[in-house]
Amino acid sequence: MTKWGKRTEAVHSGVRRSQFGELSEAMFMTQAFSYDSAEAAEARFIESGHDEFIYARYGNPTNRMFEDRIAALEGTEDAFACASGMAAVNGALMALTQAGDHVVSSRALFGSCLYLLEDILGRFGVEITLVDGTDNAEWNDAIRPDTKLVFLEAISNPTLEVIDLDHVVKLAHANGALVVVDNAMPTPVFSYATKLGADLVVYSTTKHVDGQGRMLGGAICGSRDLIRGPIETYVKHTGGAINPFAAWTHLKALETLDLRVRAQADAAMKVAEALADHPKLSRMSYPQHPSHPQHAISMQQSPSGGTVLAVEVKGGKEACFRFLNALEIFIISNNFADAKSIATHPATTTHQRLPQEQKDILGISDGLVRLSIGLEDVEDLITDLMNGLDAV
Ligand SMILES: *Cc1c(COP(=O)(O)O)cnc(C)c1O
Repeated sequence: MTKWGKRTEAVHSGVRRSQFGELSEAMFMTQAFSYDSAEAAEARFIESGHDEFIYARYGNPTNRMFEDRIAALEGTEDAFACASGMAAVNGALMALTQAGDHVVSSRALFGSCLYLLEDILGRFGVEITLVDGTDNAEWNDAIRPDTKLVFLEAISNPTLEVIDLDHVVKLAHANGALVVVDNAMPTPVFSYATKLGADLVVYSTTKHVDGQGRMLGGAICGSRDLIRGPIETYVKHTGGAINPFAAWTHLKALETLDLRVRAQADAAMKVAEALADHPKLSRMSYPQHPSHPQHAISMQQSPSGGTVLAVEVKGGKEACFRFLNALEIFIISNNFADAKSIATHPATTTHQRLPQEQKDILGISDGLVRLSIGLEDVEDLITDLMNGLDAV
């Protein structure tokens, strides 16, 4: 969209300076805005320009700076900032569907996304077809001429399945369907969703954008017509807006996003190499390690495999818990994409409520551990993991 590179955009784009000329972006902690006259208020309500605000649920200067900056990084015309990743996913899906519509989605989804699709959209009469996202033939069979929307996680959490996005986008567009990508794993740094034609790219900015485990947030990125049309209309009236404090931390965090994510991804690749073929593991999954089932498509689509890997400890839950409890640096938590490395046992935490049959389909076994690589010395992380596996 501009002549500058992404790192430059991440530092400078979206800035709005007040009359004081502050160097660092200001945090506008205000709910509402005032007008010089009754006529000015009336005019603002008839039509507000890009930098004219009415109420913080609709928009706020700090939120707008964050929206413009994340849109510049994603390469879209615009973005709408939301209170959380789920507020963003909900906004994108609810704004674009109605009773009678058909939606196709990959099955390997974040739990709350699956709930939103199956339970909430289902309750309002939207028909959902779930497919194995890695199988192009299943997408071909599922998408119909009356399919309204396609939803997927570009790289799934926690199993790190990689979808052939070019295939799915072309197929969806040939049938007149919009494509919404939940892009938490690829991050805005390594995103390829907009480049490959996705109509909306949704972020849980809780993850890499914040990157230090502080603030919930989300963003929906896309064309101005979609963002300032159905998306803004839905989110502003249903209360999904981000608060300016969170938007401000995210705005400032975008300045260092590229450095942080690249360092974490480089470390993740080193961890993947160290853990591949480890005798205590039955599986090590990292998209850009040659052993990954979708390695070729991952290399083709993305410059990096990201900051997260998954391993399967041999010996089931007991062996796996011994590994987790022996870790000294990795923190046991259900979050990911933090400066602190995190180990998660999906089967008993994030995916505990899934029926066993669904866990089996998704590959969420009792031995599966998701490893989120932080900003520590990678040699220390590898030592910690090796010591943990020695304890099994
Ligand atoms: C975390 C996450 C979400 C939800 O984000 P919140 O900010 O926790 O609401 C949605 N999708 C994916 C893929 C996620 O990882």
